[in-house]
Amino acid sequence: MQDVERRLDAACARAGRRREDVKIVAVTKYVSAAIARRVVEAGCRHIGENRWPAAEAKWRLLEGQAVFHYIGSLQTNKVKEVVGRFDYIHSVDRWSLATEIHKRAAALGIVVPVFFQVNVSGEDSKHGLPPAELAAFAEEARGLTGIRPVGLMTMAPFEAQAEDTRPVFRELRRLRDELNGRAILPQPLTELSMGMSNDFEVAVEEGATWIRLGTVLVGKEDNGSSEGLR
Ligand SMILES: *Cc1c(COP(=O)(O)O)cnc(C)c1O
Repeated sequence: MQDVERRLDAACARAGRRREDVKIVAVTKYVSAAIARRVVEAGCRHIGENRWPAAEAKWRLLEGQAVFHYIGSLQTNKVKEVVGRFDYIHSVDRWSLATEIHKRAAALGIVVPVFFQVNVSGEDSKHGLPPAELAAFAEEARGLTGIRPVGLMTMAPFEAQAEDTRPVFRELRRLRDELNGRAILPQPLTELSMGMSNDFEVAVEEGATWIRLGTVLVGKEDNGSSEGLR
C-alpha cells in the first residue's frame, strides 16, 4: 500500500493535482473478507466488488465501516441484490439497467449515485455505452429520480505499455467536460472512475477522481497461497 501511495503522490505531482482529489477504491474481489477488513483498518474505506455472491461476506463484515462500490457488469435481474447495499454503482451502461436501479431505489426511498460506463476504446469485449450515445442517454436519465449521475467510468484495454492507455482516459474526460458544457444534466458530472493496477498513474495524470485498484493494492489470494495485503 505504501508503494501505491508513493506512486500516486508522484503522479499527482506530475499532473499538478492534489492527492486528496484522487480517491482509491480497493477492489477486493480476489481476496477474502479477512483481508478486506485489513484494508479498511489500514485506512482505505472504499471497497469495490463486481459480484454480490462474492461480496456478501465482506459486506456483512464491514457494513457501516466501509463504503461499497459496485464496479462489475450488472444484469437487470441482479439489481435487487445491489441497490440498498452498495453506495455507488460504477457500471450503468444501458437504459434497462438505469430504469431498474431507479425503480428499486425509489421503492426503498433512496437515491443511488451512479457512473455511466462508456466504452471509449470500442472493444467488443468491453461493456459500456458507445460515446456517440452518451448525450442522449444522459438526457433521458434526467427523468430517473432514483439515480444521481455523478460521473463517467471506463476500462482501458490492457496494454503492455501503460502509456498507450492515455488516449482512452483523455477521451473520457473530454466526454465528461462536453456533457457538462452542454448542461445536459441538472448537476455537472464531477467524477471520473478510471485507472486500474496496470494504468492508474496515467489515469491520474488524465484527471481520474476514482481509481479502482485490485492486484497492486490488496494482492490476490487463491486457495490459501496468499500474497495478502501489500
Ligand atoms: C477487477 C477490476 C478492477 C481491478 O483490477 P486490477 O487490475 O486488479 O487493479 C478494476 N475495475 C474493474 C471494473 C474490475 O472488474
